[in-house]
Amino acid sequence: GTPAMAIAFESTYSALPETLFSPVQPSAVRQPVLIRLNEALADELGLDARWLKGADGLAALSGNAIPEASTPIALAYAGHQFGNFVPRLGDGRAILLGEILREDGARRDIQLKGAGRTPYSRNGDGRAALGPVLREYIVSEAMAALGVPTTRALAAVATGERVQRETGLPGAVLTRVAASHIRVGTFQYVAATGDHAALRSLADYVIARHYPSAAEAENPYLALFEQILRAQAALIAHWMSIGFIHGVMNTDNMAISGETIDYGPCAFLDTYEPTKVFSSIDQFGRYAFGNQPRIAVWNLARLAEALLTLIADDPDTAAALATERLQGFTAQFDGPYLARMRTKLGLATARPEDAQLIADFLQTMREGQADFTLAFRQLSQPAPENGVPTPLAALFSNPDTLNDWAARYRERLRYETVSPEERRQAMDQANPRFIPRNHQIEAVIHAAVTENDYTPFHKLIAVLTHPFAEQPENATFATPPAPEEEVHETFC
Ligand code: AMP
Ligand code: MG
Ligand code: MG
Repeated sequence: GTPAMAIAFESTYSALPETLFSPVQPSAVRQPVLIRLNEALADELGLDARWLKGADGLAALSGNAIPEASTPIALAYAGHQFGNFVPRLGDGRAILLGEILREDGARRDIQLKGAGRTPYSRNGDGRAALGPVLREYIVSEAMAALGVPTTRALAAVATGERVQRETGLPGAVLTRVAASHIRVGTFQYVAATGDHAALRSLADYVIARHYPSAAEAENPYLALFEQILRAQAALIAHWMSIGFIHGVMNTDNMAISGETIDYGPCAFLDTYEPTKVFSSIDQFGRYAFGNQPRIAVWNLARLAEALLTLIADDPDTAAALATERLQGFTAQFDGPYLARMRTKLGLATARPEDAQLIADFLQTMREGQADFTLAFRQLSQPAPENGVPTPLAALFSNPDTLNDWAARYRERLRYETVSPEERRQAMDQANPRFIPRNHQIEAVIHAAVTENDYTPFHKLIAVLTHPFAEQPENATFATPPAPEEEVHETFC
């Protein structure tokens, strides 16, 4: 039946050339059970949480019924996967129900991930396993609580069906909310078809939806590129400041809006190691932690290629303009990166030696195999005269290596004018105590999959909703993994 509550879905995307999407219906599931509804997010979206939790809401969130105003579509896109171009990927297991306008005027996509096959499914089943759905829910909501631009999780529903992966696994559907699902790969897809009018329509749509000020620029499409580049640079800088590894930075997994999208084999660093890779499919470390800014540039170069014919009629002129903007990435990245890292060190002023001070703290962490998150967090703790805070030193395998750096840090702090107490408070607002640690996510998934026990899932989300609070009663959630708990590999 049709759910009674009218969700005021719109579908502005469907007005774009039809090469960009396919109408599609979700496939019903046997026995949907609501795992969790994100009530705070429902409120933000102007949705009725009570209705969503009821039978009609559950039908909508599982794909068993299509809300009245929804005209579901799957989006077409291409992408470079690990450097290889695939001209046709698209939503193989995701279905866009529509867009809703928030009260503040912001437009948000509502998408069901795992709702069945689409014309882009290729050999896939269009379904999602429970583990990845829980992982995406936890990590995307943790990112939001950390203040990082990200897609959100509105709901997770168990389907009561099995999905076949290496083994049979319980299935689930995630309701994903995004500023939009337009990717670098969306531009690559249309550019590769050679349909110039469709490319222009897409670019105009993106300008109107995400970067309206680009329309006022002398060269709107170049301005669009520049603004997307700036958003990406700021996003990756944010990732680098919290130890987040995306894991699959393919061009189809880079959102034009500047939100983090596609939580597959993502992970947070425990000990600081820039060459760290968790993803089981990343054999050569292409998407290692420290490579992320470089990969963003690589992806943006692919975006530039797709936009060239819009940027200028003359290919050489277009290439020169795009290249110049691309070369600006370093500056666009360094600004927000330095600002974030200074805040993490409690530096309210800027001095030329700061970049080196930051780099050397990281290098000392690397040599001492220190936990990235806690090293920053403990830096704000009171230190003995001319010494290092005890809980900070305790994180390093060879704490003596910290002394030289700490002496320089103390020198640097003499240029600061805020009181130590104010500084400590500011640092604790910039350095989370709680991140979604891989071993905790694994434990949550294990309990859900093997014992149908979602208590650990709800508990972990509750803790991660306040990442900067001390939460002394939840100290175990701040603890790095014991050697036997360490997760070395994550899977999509
Ligand atoms: P991802 O690794 O999540 O970025 O997905 C890469 C591509 O594979 C996208 O086009 C997905 O829609 C598609 N895909 C991933 N898993 C499935 C699945 N189970 N069924 C159909 N398509 C899938
Ligand atoms: Mg993807
Ligand atoms: Mg994925």
